[in-house]
Amino acid sequence: MDLGISGKRALVTASSKGLGRGCAEALAAAGVNLVLNARGAEALEATAAEIRATYGVEVATVACDVTTADGQAAVLAAAGDVDILVTNAGGPPPGLWSDWDRDDFIKALDGNMLTPIALMKACLPGMISRGWGRVVNITSGSVKAPIAQLGLSNSARAGLTGYVAGTSRQVAEHGVTINNLLPGIHDTDRAQQLDGGVSKTQGISMDQARTNRQATIPARRYGTAAEFGATCAFLCSAHAGFIVGQNILADGGAINATL
Ligand code: NAP
Repeated sequence: MDLGISGKRALVTASSKGLGRGCAEALAAAGVNLVLNARGAEALEATAAEIRATYGVEVATVACDVTTADGQAAVLAAAGDVDILVTNAGGPPPGLWSDWDRDDFIKALDGNMLTPIALMKACLPGMISRGWGRVVNITSGSVKAPIAQLGLSNSARAGLTGYVAGTSRQVAEHGVTINNLLPGIHDTDRAQQLDGGVSKTQGISMDQARTNRQATIPARRYGTAAEFGATCAFLCSAHAGFIVGQNILADGGAINATL
């Protein structure tokens, strides 16, 4: 399917690896020019070079921590007028409700709520004035069903979800859509870290931890960054203009709910 976005320009934050990279690659495959970001310059430059070579699109890079004010200013300065914004950042660390204090919550809110809000606030006026825009926020299945050890994620991402629910309906009349894409377990470094946590706390091998977690997913496997990215690219496509303020779950059926 022609996604109808060839030649558009996208900012994808936290995109040298994992789900952010999956989104960047799927947009590049649709002919979208990219601004990519991550903290580590080496992996970022390697990813940018591979995407340029594979898809022939323009790729700019900004190595910085996007959860800081300086980092946001740097990516926004490099991005300029973007048609598509995909927000992403690392997830908060696991733990228990009794572990976290105010500073932990502030950090999680900065990373997974206030950063995407700041990026949207900066990019939406240009999209509105041009009469077309797409925003996809990478959040988490924890928004629909809480994950006990990820209370910081449950909390911060719920705040972002509320913001998107209201804001998306204020910008839709200008041809701008905002939606959230909610990953369940995907085969990335982050999932392997979480397997490591399960392995440690339960005293089992990494393989066993993965087998046990896969057994909780009706699809009986982890998702891939490529299929996640393809879903993101569709939400950014010309065909998705009537999808507004939705929370699209990509989790292999893991959350057992009718709606
Ligand atoms: P990942 O494989 O660890 O990749 C994270 C990417 O983000 C890397 O490119 C990393 O590069 C970059 N990054 C992290 N923190 C950053 C920051 N502060 N500023 C700029 N770049 C940053 O993670 P993932 O699995 O793709 O997860 C992406 C998001 O989805 C996370 O928020 C995660 O919590 C959420 N999620 C993932 C899953 C899953 O199963 N994978 C499930 C639910 C939710 P640098 O380290 O070099 O900065």
